[in-house]
Amino acid sequence: MKLVDEFRDVRLARSLTERIRQRSVRAARLMEFCGSHTVAIFKHGIRQLLPPGVEMMSGPGCPVCVTDNADIDKAIALAGLPDVILCSFGDMLKVPGSNSSLQQAKAEGADVRIVYSTMDALEIARRNPEKGVIFLGVGFETTIPTIAASVLAAEAGAIDNYHVFSLGKLCPPVMKALLDAGEVKIDGIICPGHVSAIIGSRPYEFIPRDYGIACVVSGFEPVDILLAVDMLIAQIEAGLPAVEIAYRRGVTPEGNQRAQQLMEQVFDRCPARWRGVGQVPQSGLRLKEKYRRFNAELAFPVEPGPTREPKGCRCGEVLRGVAKPTDCQLFRSVCTPERPVGPCMVSYEGACSSYYLYGDDSGE
Ligand code: SF4
Repeated sequence: MKLVDEFRDVRLARSLTERIRQRSVRAARLMEFCGSHTVAIFKHGIRQLLPPGVEMMSGPGCPVCVTDNADIDKAIALAGLPDVILCSFGDMLKVPGSNSSLQQAKAEGADVRIVYSTMDALEIARRNPEKGVIFLGVGFETTIPTIAASVLAAEAGAIDNYHVFSLGKLCPPVMKALLDAGEVKIDGIICPGHVSAIIGSRPYEFIPRDYGIACVVSGFEPVDILLAVDMLIAQIEAGLPAVEIAYRRGVTPEGNQRAQQLMEQVFDRCPARWRGVGQVPQSGLRLKEKYRRFNAELAFPVEPGPTREPKGCRCGEVLRGVAKPTDCQLFRSVCTPERPVGPCMVSYEGACSSYYLYGDDSGE
């Protein structure tokens, strides 16, 4: 395997930048779907390296950001139940729901614990048999196999007090929903690297075929991203959209079939709510009937009440690519990473956080 330094090599980056400039004739709008790409693009100043005709926009690929308020409210309600321990990855705690957050619920006495893996949550369940332990299962295809593995491990170990609040989401269906909505014109998509390591590149084939949009799967280093942009511009200029991989050290067309089998063994596809996008068919996962005893929503039915979005927050539009963080009146003045108003500022992978930390389009 090549050292990561090669993918940060300044000379390689310069030569790719030059090649993009030479290739680029027509205007092109590229969307990076994934929040990790947004961070890398801002951190390495890649937008400023591209010719003026190549515009980049951020997509909805941050699992924290796209978790719907109704689901956050439900998680907070679950955390407030007696004899329940709610386990979550840390970045969900500060996300505001309609009236509170998990962090606030914890401060008010709820037993909310930060875990670093699903197996941590399972171990908490094993050690606390008198409690109901709920894992807040937020994530894309990258995380879902580990959630599936935890359910199988709970079954094998007869850890019946372990439950999953399944908020896992699948990326290709929401890409289709965004393209069907037609709100933003996109010529090319930088497809997510981590997600594609699991699902492969084949699930994106409908995008060039049905929408005529170029697709390249990218890694996360500056040379990876510039190579992906170069490949996208080559497709766009040739008028030959396709799915290509610029991240061959991590992604194959087939993906990780063992991980895919795990997902299919434990979950069925179902509709899911995405912040800003609404309900998207076949984009969520619910536990199969066989594993229903691990389903937190069935074990602990709660009705959290009506939802409301943070006042003035434009995260929904930011996630759909129809507004930039700098279009939001609260950006920087009221909403900052220290005092975030919406999830796109809470999450390090959120577009608002990247704009705040690494500069807006003008490079400020
Ligand atoms: Fe929401 Fe803050 Fe982003 Fe505005 S700047 S859209 S309030 S997260």
